[in-house]
Amino acid sequence: MQPTPHMPVYLDNAATTPVDPAVAAVIAECLTAEGVFGNPASRTHVYGWDAEERVEQARSELADAIHCDPREIVWTSGATESDNLAIKGIALARRSAGRHIITSKVEHKAVIDSCRWLEQQGFEVTWLDPAGNGAVDPDAVAAALRPDTVLVSIMAVNNELGVCSDLEAIGALTRSAGVPLHVDAAQALGKMRLDLSVLPVDLMSFCAHKVYGPKGIGALFVRRRRDLVLEPQMHGGGHERGLRSGTLATQQIAGFGHACVLAANALTEECARLTELRARFLEAVFELPDVKLNGDVEHSVPGIVNLAFAGVDGEALMLALAADVACSSASACTTATIEPSHVLRALGLDDALAHASIRFSFGRFTTREEVDFAAARVVETVTRLRVASATPDLAAGR
Ligand SMILES: *Cc1c(COP(=O)(O)O)cnc(C)c1O
Repeated sequence: MQPTPHMPVYLDNAATTPVDPAVAAVIAECLTAEGVFGNPASRTHVYGWDAEERVEQARSELADAIHCDPREIVWTSGATESDNLAIKGIALARRSAGRHIITSKVEHKAVIDSCRWLEQQGFEVTWLDPAGNGAVDPDAVAAALRPDTVLVSIMAVNNELGVCSDLEAIGALTRSAGVPLHVDAAQALGKMRLDLSVLPVDLMSFCAHKVYGPKGIGALFVRRRRDLVLEPQMHGGGHERGLRSGTLATQQIAGFGHACVLAANALTEECARLTELRARFLEAVFELPDVKLNGDVEHSVPGIVNLAFAGVDGEALMLALAADVACSSASACTTATIEPSHVLRALGLDDALAHASIRFSFGRFTTREEVDFAAARVVETVTRLRVASATPDLAAGR
């Protein structure tokens, strides 16, 4: 994709990705009268049977990508719903066993607000501070575990920083304490290897629209274990083994399944390509003085970088870049408010530096030319804004 005069270079793939054309073709096959349009719950005719078969194929495709049993997948509307179902579902089912939950201050709002709601219902939540790079320290989880802890929820990859937490270590701790571990993996799917046959994780949230699938579809992995019981949050026809009622969206599910196949096939190559693009981008942007990387490149997925440009307002920078580069000043979900990012705050950044931070996220369709163009525009714009703020007369147009 060449930068066009009309559309800026898209470097916000952590907010959402375009649907892969091959995925769009699969979706189109499940819509019209000629396609697989039936209700997967219809048991009395071939339209229903075909739709059910399509849904089960997709369930196997996701299960294969993360190395679990297809029966461990529950379809939802997205990672927000998966987080809600996992956290409220486990907490409410276990409330007589204990009312303590452990999570971190850098989680996605879907996790944070689900835990906040549970606080109002009489649960106690330990909010862990991240380590300096934004990852959650397994030792902090160990120190917070209590006999009445009923759930630990820690994200796999932080959506603002790209930083990964050590799920093996955290899972080993929760497993030996007998506490279920939920992981929000919305930013991990398709970006790193996820092997649930060895990862000691009990519940994992996913969505399709961060892996070149459609919006409005997600999944929750629920490990098949007799003691892992969830209180459903959606009541109705008893779909998805009673865990999530509602007619299954065949076209979204089929698209998600195909997106998983493509992501698994491309994983190694895509990681290498994105690592090169990131290095290129950082090399160009670090020509500027006073640029700080938030997070930790060594322990991050390659597609996400978060940079603080000291002395520049992030909003002003994004506005100045808007015609050329589409990026994000905080997680897209918080741009409705002008609070500085809760993640950057938890990292200890002051408000000024948090406001001067921007996330750039590269993806499958990002080209080298786009990265070079964007980096050049960032360098130029930051330099200009810094000169302007150092010379107020110029800034005011005098
Ligand atoms: C995008 C995202 C979500 C929300 O997913 P939706 O499918 O948009 O509801 C949750 N958690 C993380 C880490 C995300 O990046």
